[in-house]
Amino acid sequence: MTVPTITLNDGTSIPQVGFGVFLVEPDDTQRIVSDALDAGYRHIDTAAIYGNEIGVGRAIETSGIPRDELYITTKLWNSDQGTQSAFDAMDLSLEKLGLDYVDLYLIHWPSPHRDRYLESWLTLEQLRADGKTRSIGVSNFQKAHLDRVIEGSSTVPAVNQIELHPAFAQRELSAYNRARGIHIEAWGPLGQGKYDLFSMPPVAVAAAATGKTPAQVVLRWQVQTGNIIFPKSNNAGRIAENLDIFDFELDDDQMAAMDSLDAGRRVGANPDTADF
Ligand code: NAD
Repeated sequence: MTVPTITLNDGTSIPQVGFGVFLVEPDDTQRIVSDALDAGYRHIDTAAIYGNEIGVGRAIETSGIPRDELYITTKLWNSDQGTQSAFDAMDLSLEKLGLDYVDLYLIHWPSPHRDRYLESWLTLEQLRADGKTRSIGVSNFQKAHLDRVIEGSSTVPAVNQIELHPAFAQRELSAYNRARGIHIEAWGPLGQGKYDLFSMPPVAVAAAATGKTPAQVVLRWQVQTGNIIFPKSNNAGRIAENLDIFDFELDDDQMAAMDSLDAGRRVGANPDTADF
């Protein structure tokens, strides 16, 4: 199975579909990430705050897959925003992952009440210059946060990883990013299972018509929308299912029906007001 790659604004490329490990228990992470690598995933999305970077690293090491065939993302946690604290956090993540570099390092949340995301961004620029990460990006950044880092630095983020699923399609923020050359990574691509997405008619009808599962229809909608995704599952069958979305296409009517599900329904925290 060939997963398409997307070229980012810094010239690097990223597999459009990866595997996310939010809420994967540290003790289960090596086994579950190994299942994902066996199923063909080559892109793993973790974060310092997930507490499972060691398990991700062990799965990478035991896989025997050459480092340059893997794409690994981790993220700077909010309380480590700053200069020296961010340098230290990066080193600790690399140590836990057992890697010399990651492919993508993200500021996890703008955490505006700390007012340190611009300083952190300048640190990420230095981390990239030092070879500790190939690309740098942000997560959960709203327009004002993006404007500030773009105006205050010499690097436009390669990606913005934001909550995005059919009932929270984020069209306006996506267009804002796109216009600046920033690629969207959609977190919670299946709505984190927090609403009854799979039985909604556009999903169920497209699943019946294509012979694919509702989850595959939603993930296919994400891919055709142009988003980078990394759905999470602990189940080997579903892990394989979520990558098996490149042998069918949603037609224009099916895409339009999926687009009609947008209801501004956020299931996670609002980045402007989150107090963590
Ligand atoms: P998700 O939308 O991937 O949903 C995961 C849920 O969907 C799980 O409960 C799982 O049981 C269910 N599921 C998965 N595959 C299924 C299938 N084939 N059929 C039926 N149910 C299925 O939510 P997520 O894990 O929160 O998001 C994906 C990744 O995004 C995370 O693992 C993490 O890497 C990243 N993320 C980032 C942030 C951020 O702030 N940057 C926040 C949340 C998640």
